[in-house]
Amino acid sequence: MNTPGNTPGSTLGRNERQALSRKIIDTCLAMNASGINQGKSGNLSARFGDGMLITPSGVAYDKLKPMDIVLMALDGTVEPGQLLPSSEWRMHADIYRHRPEAQAVLHAHPTHCTALACRREGIPSFHYMVAMAGGSDIRCSDYATFGTEALSNTMIAALEGRKACLLANHGMICFEGDLGKALALGIEVESLARQYLAARQGGEPVILSDAEMAEVIEKFKTYGKQPTKEA
Ligand code: 13P
Ligand code: ZN
Repeated sequence: MNTPGNTPGSTLGRNERQALSRKIIDTCLAMNASGINQGKSGNLSARFGDGMLITPSGVAYDKLKPMDIVLMALDGTVEPGQLLPSSEWRMHADIYRHRPEAQAVLHAHPTHCTALACRREGIPSFHYMVAMAGGSDIRCSDYATFGTEALSNTMIAALEGRKACLLANHGMICFEGDLGKALALGIEVESLARQYLAARQGGEPVILSDAEMAEVIEKFKTYGKQPTKEA
């Protein structure tokens, strides 16, 4: 972590910071209530101006207040007087730096994703919904110690062309266009991991071909997009 320098998100005001911090806390509580994460594990962030707002390290989500959410620049600079940011701030910052479409990042330790990740296995195209993560599979990164630059580097590689990946012997990380969508994607990836493990119990599931998945990926570009109501 660097010493204080520029103020990330400085063009955005106190009210915006407070409102987005509240949304981060609400999403953390919903994440744990959904069952995809336990206790103080995991972390959540949202892009804020040219920086990000991120959960503090090791604080129970039900104890969080908006001013506990840490404002941080993407180079690791933090303003003084704040709580310590999540130990995984590098993974979050690197996603915002490498993937301009990312507005929210969710990291959790969901049971079935983690079980696969402990076997160093990703999720292949056993089900068409795998395409929700952006491609024909959901990869598992290499192993690196939590909170390290090495973990962030292997995660960025596993996320190539994808919005989610498993983290070896650790858990799952995903990003989306807002906090609600990031939580929905995290829940979907855990559901796929559970279905994949179940499908393997009586033998090996049939894997969809690249052509079959390419068709799904194309359909997802318009699927569920209802016409917007006129004002
Ligand atoms: P933090 O409490 O520091 O965010 O760490 C939780 C975690 O999941 C580490 O990988
Ligand atoms: Zn973790």
